[in-house]
Amino acid sequence: LKRSTVQQLLSSQELDREVLVKGWVRTRRGNKYVQFIAVNDGSILHNIQVVADAEKFPEEALKDVTTGSCVAIRGKLVASQGKGQTVEVQAAEITVLGKSDPEAYPLQKKATSLEHLREIAHLRPRTNTFGAVLRVRHALAFAIHDYFNKNGFFYVHTPIITGSDAEGAGQMFRVTTLPPEHPPRTADGSVDFSEDFFGKQTNLTVSGQLEGELAAMALGSIYTFGPTFRAENSNTARHLAEFWMIEPEVAFNELEENMDLAEDFLQSLVRYALEHCADDLAFLNEQYDKELLGRLHFVVDNAFQRLTYTEAVEILKSAKQKFEFPVDWGTDLQSEHERYLVEKHFKKPVILTNYPKEIKAFYMKLDEDGRTVRAMDVLFPGIGEIIGGSQREEDYEKLTTRMAEMHVPTDELDWYLDTRRFGTAPHAGFGLGFERLVLFVTGMSNIRDVIPFPRYPKNAAF
Ligand code: ATP
Ligand code: MG
Ligand code: MG
Ligand code: MG
Repeated sequence: LKRSTVQQLLSSQELDREVLVKGWVRTRRGNKYVQFIAVNDGSILHNIQVVADAEKFPEEALKDVTTGSCVAIRGKLVASQGKGQTVEVQAAEITVLGKSDPEAYPLQKKATSLEHLREIAHLRPRTNTFGAVLRVRHALAFAIHDYFNKNGFFYVHTPIITGSDAEGAGQMFRVTTLPPEHPPRTADGSVDFSEDFFGKQTNLTVSGQLEGELAAMALGSIYTFGPTFRAENSNTARHLAEFWMIEPEVAFNELEENMDLAEDFLQSLVRYALEHCADDLAFLNEQYDKELLGRLHFVVDNAFQRLTYTEAVEILKSAKQKFEFPVDWGTDLQSEHERYLVEKHFKKPVILTNYPKEIKAFYMKLDEDGRTVRAMDVLFPGIGEIIGGSQREEDYEKLTTRMAEMHVPTDELDWYLDTRRFGTAPHAGFGLGFERLVLFVTGMSNIRDVIPFPRYPKNAAF
């Protein structure tokens, strides 16, 4: 007899047949005549109810069927009398595959706070909440690959260990095999990285973009989807030290087309989740955030508002709302400003463009005015920045001038400059933080709760 998943059983039309189901016991309750065992196997939010008659299963036979234990149940799939479920399994045989001491099992209590669950991150997936989050996370990852595949993009793998720190200076994790106690030193006393594994200083990547640009200048339309690392000391609900980023890069695209792609992409992903994760999203909506489904439709149903950074600053300056941080032309916007524009002012997702060059990266294409660059940030309700992107500077002279101005070492990026030396072309791309997307779609309030093993300052316990 082949195992059926709970998901298969709950959607089955074929009743009164023998089935085999395996999973973890969520609860057991009942009376001296009959016991009801709720079993979940992760395939779906809902449990299957297993009915065990006391005649066949006296208390002694069920003593190890406790919350958290793992069971295999053979029985008959029948229509259920209970409300809220259509089918149940009448048990013929119950095998305990793995016992779980009810006194010690950490998920015994009905409601455990999200903060506490973070401390037992390895067990979180067994809760309804994290089961739902992880299934939505999976669906979104799949939808991302599906979207790009259907639109002619190639998936390119960029390196995780990089030999340059041009982009993330100051927030990169160093990769080294040198002994921390007595590392080799050069004549002037500094650590001699020529003795290191790669013969030079290396770091964990903060973005796959620069390598992605090279690939786009050969394959046309590409994307990366991989882990990125930032040692920024940001103890916020929106930042992780290890997060996944999706970075499409398209040759011949300019800023306008980059915005079109970002908007269509995000709307497609949210639409996919609404269609494929209806149960999990309804649960999250009910449990944590009654406005979740409304917000998801808000993104799918509204064309994104596009405006320049300069226009946004004017709006923010004349806003009645008091901000914690004042806004002035030339400063980067905080999430409170971004959310004001989306939630209060436009009541639409927003794409802000043409930021001052001082607050953006060296590779963004300079505007004619020489003060702003062709950057774009996509801002979402409840989140703020979800995407950061730009049209890239394709001109060798202008790019190297910008690098000099911003003290970006050109020798380290000589390989990157080859794109501009040999057959340069306009191109554009962006980075979508995967966890920000999952955060938005699940309605969770902390980014630490949408990745299985979150990494943040002072936390790498697992
Ligand atoms: P923020 O302003 O929120 O710090 P950023 O401008 O530094 O973000 P980018 O370098 O533009 O981030 O990276 C592209 C995208 O990656 C961001 O729009 C965001 O969705 C995501 N992202 C950036 N930093 C983090 C982080 N520490 N944790 C999770 N996601 C992040
Ligand atoms: Mg940042
Ligand atoms: Mg930003
Ligand atoms: Mg950004």
